[in-house]
Amino acid sequence: MMKPIPYGRQHISQEDIDAVVATLKSDYLTQGPKILEFENAFANYVGSKYAVAVANGTAALHLCALALEVQKGDKVITTPITFAASANCVRYCGGEVVFADIDPETYLLDINKVEELLLASPKGTYKGIIPVDFAGRSVDMEAFSLLAKEHGLWIIEDSCHAPGGFFKDSKGVQQKCGNGKFADLAIFSFHPVKHIAAGEGGMITTNDEELYKSLLMLRTHGITKDSETFKNSIDFAAGQSGFSEYPGWYMEMQTLGYNYRLTDFQSALGLSQLSRAEEGIERRRELAKVYQNAFRDKKYVKGQSGVIDGHAYHLYVIEVDDRTGLYNYLREHKIYAQIHYIPCHLMPYYRDQKWKEGDLPQAESYYKKCISLPMYPTLESKEQQYVISQVFEFYEKGV
Ligand SMILES: *Cc1c(COP(=O)(O)O)cnc(C)c1O
Repeated sequence: MMKPIPYGRQHISQEDIDAVVATLKSDYLTQGPKILEFENAFANYVGSKYAVAVANGTAALHLCALALEVQKGDKVITTPITFAASANCVRYCGGEVVFADIDPETYLLDINKVEELLLASPKGTYKGIIPVDFAGRSVDMEAFSLLAKEHGLWIIEDSCHAPGGFFKDSKGVQQKCGNGKFADLAIFSFHPVKHIAAGEGGMITTNDEELYKSLLMLRTHGITKDSETFKNSIDFAAGQSGFSEYPGWYMEMQTLGYNYRLTDFQSALGLSQLSRAEEGIERRRELAKVYQNAFRDKKYVKGQSGVIDGHAYHLYVIEVDDRTGLYNYLREHKIYAQIHYIPCHLMPYYRDQKWKEGDLPQAESYYKKCISLPMYPTLESKEQQYVISQVFEFYEKGV
């Protein structure tokens, strides 16, 4: 008997454990040197100028929406085939989420549908777009950035599924997800099912210095210790007149921020995991190739993630007939495939905001067929073969 096979799982090595233990024995559990080290290494990995480590991917999205000054009533466009957090960050700031349908080939936000929305309303109606590199496949950020510029919108790229992923731009150059060239801000998550695990954790990348500075403040209560930006007078800060500089204790809370920090020991784990990220993607690509070949000529497979350059393979999705039957059959055989995602606009919370079945037909039809097969670097070849053989058995032996 095989041990249970999940759809995704973390891989913790002895080096990871040593790195965390070393930090636990250091002077800092939080707000120490590992955070900046992790941020710098991560920025270097994706090719952005700046990176800000935060408590989780949802906090990253919230801080992005705050830094971009999403306000009550602001309309922001995103995809329904994503984890709810991609949309929820707009709601945290009182904005309105407008879902646009997906491209049935790529499963990504359909840029044509986004453009239709933009052209159907007066300029200024929409404030931003949140495309998602769903399953690890990068959106064409060059095209989105051109469209956003034309309409004066910002972009938050939700790259939670795609650290290390890339797309090829119009000149054929590889552009990594979150490299800061196309989106104003990009976000990542370090939840254990994602590529890099930190327990909980998140990262925001950007090339924009102003946004970077505002994110740093928002992450820590809106507090700054940078005397260049102080608003109160030195005399006030010192508690008496006649002072020539701000006293050492002085800091200012200049805006309403949060405590969305990542700890030092989580940063140590993330940093150690990051050093194996490329290895992990290599293995994911190998697994994707095997799945693709196995299902290539199967009539009951209606679509699959396939082998795509730059795909980071957070998920390997196939679309099948009798998806629910397959899901249950695999579970009976201890294979815990998963469904990504129930369309966000049909969650009761968003139905309350006028969304209903039929609004986004491509996303809804995808949802009826999709299933994510086990995909993670430590999935063994014999385990993958077992998964494939169980899929065959379900359809070919007519269970
Ligand atoms: C995981 C995930 C998030 C949220 O990240 P957390 O770290 O779990 O808060 C947001 N968007 C997408 C697409 C995700 O997969």
